[in-house]
Amino acid sequence: MDSNGVDEHQMKLVEGAAGYVLEDVPHLSDYIHDLPTYPNPLQSNAAYSVVRQYFVDEDDTVMEKIVVHQDSPRGTHFRRAGPRQKVYFKPADVRACIVTCGGLCPGLNTVIREIVCGLHFMYGVTEVIGVDCGFRGFYSKNTVTLTPKVVSDIHKRGGTILGTSRGGHDTSKIVDNIQDREINQVYIIGGDGTQKGASAIYKEIRRRGLKVAVAGIPKTIDNDIPVIDKSFGFDTAVEEAQRAINAAHVEATSVENGIGLVKLMGRYSGFIAMYATLASRDVDCCLIPESPFYLEGKGGLYEFIAKRLRENGHMVIVIAEGAGQDLVAESIEKQDASGNKLLKDVGLWMSLKIKEHFAKQGKMEITLKYIDPTYMIRAIPANASDNVYSTLLAQSAVHGAMAGYTGFISGLVNGRHTYIPLNRITERQNKVVITDRMWARMLSSTNQPSFMNPPKETTEATN
Ligand code: ATP
Ligand code: MG
Repeated sequence: MDSNGVDEHQMKLVEGAAGYVLEDVPHLSDYIHDLPTYPNPLQSNAAYSVVRQYFVDEDDTVMEKIVVHQDSPRGTHFRRAGPRQKVYFKPADVRACIVTCGGLCPGLNTVIREIVCGLHFMYGVTEVIGVDCGFRGFYSKNTVTLTPKVVSDIHKRGGTILGTSRGGHDTSKIVDNIQDREINQVYIIGGDGTQKGASAIYKEIRRRGLKVAVAGIPKTIDNDIPVIDKSFGFDTAVEEAQRAINAAHVEATSVENGIGLVKLMGRYSGFIAMYATLASRDVDCCLIPESPFYLEGKGGLYEFIAKRLRENGHMVIVIAEGAGQDLVAESIEKQDASGNKLLKDVGLWMSLKIKEHFAKQGKMEITLKYIDPTYMIRAIPANASDNVYSTLLAQSAVHGAMAGYTGFISGLVNGRHTYIPLNRITERQNKVVITDRMWARMLSSTNQPSFMNPPKETTEATN
């Protein structure tokens, strides 16, 4: 229990042949009692009646860990997402709102579109409003009315039609506004910070005893949200990153001792850099925040660059924006409006250091081209697979809120759509585990050193 008397986690130990823990999501009936449930309008829709088991059994769960030792317990499970036979809200009474916060990510507009269309076409909900420019839009901006017609082709555009912002989260003012506008379903699309905000809104709503469902759809291009298989927009980002890597490769192969350096997104998690490297096969070295590296001395980056240039005459390096932050010396600690640490531009720093090193050495003349495609990638529309994924996440969120679940996010776990408690995804970040097999696969594709053991004098020199 936290200070508001709200359960942080709803853990249930389910006894059975193979006992497991169900990390359940809250339900409005946990604190609002004696409310009727209504037949799901989908039941009377002939189109769905042909689908066997279209409705999800209340007791269906999804395992978090799919590979377990035969003797070990079955571990944590989450509630399976999907339409229920009964819904908690009478569709005619629903007044929903959608807000997007944090940085841009391909697929935001698809999620907005499918929440509006899902509510409208599956449940007959016609009152959906969009909050302008993030959390602060609840109390400082106007709202827009969202209809299937308004959102019909927005998935073909990048960005978010609602606008977004950082900072400006005032829980009490936001919940006052939700109450004033008689909103009873809140769909919150955003990253880790946004979902912390969603959690605060859920707790305040619960403290006030309001019949308002809060559903989060996690957005993070970096794929740094834990538990879920991947976040929407990630595939698109990896695909678009190929264009930058290709350009770097063309530049590097067109001159003698050419180096193409590409900086990709990934503040704390190097998934985009790792997958983009694996997809491309033109990358000689991938540097991510989770794997420390050093520049000078035996086994360092400079030595590796010189080796590759001697062997191949060119080289492509991919660096995630959060990599090597400990090495970037001349930095000023700054924060953005949401309190996130502003990182130093490691790409720019790295390109200067490499140029400086080889100029100083005088042995090898190099030509380095630095490409930072960050804003090009963030702003494009979702690709086909992310469009499908975003659509299903949005539909799951709608089914969950209509069924009366609250304080949850909709996310894919082991290929199945689930409802996950908000707290579960805000308490830690998803990171590349460099002792896991995926990083080993990446290393074998680039054949780069692990940069793990700097000589003692080098550590001192570069720190
Ligand atoms: P990304 O980092 O992927 O761009 P994000 O959702 O993490 O997305 P932030 O700018 O950190 O982006 O946060 C978005 C919104 O969430 C902001 O309006 C911010 O005020 C709010 N927020 C961030 N952290 C918290 C928190 N701990 N409690 C309440 N609100 C928060
Ligand atoms: Mg964030």
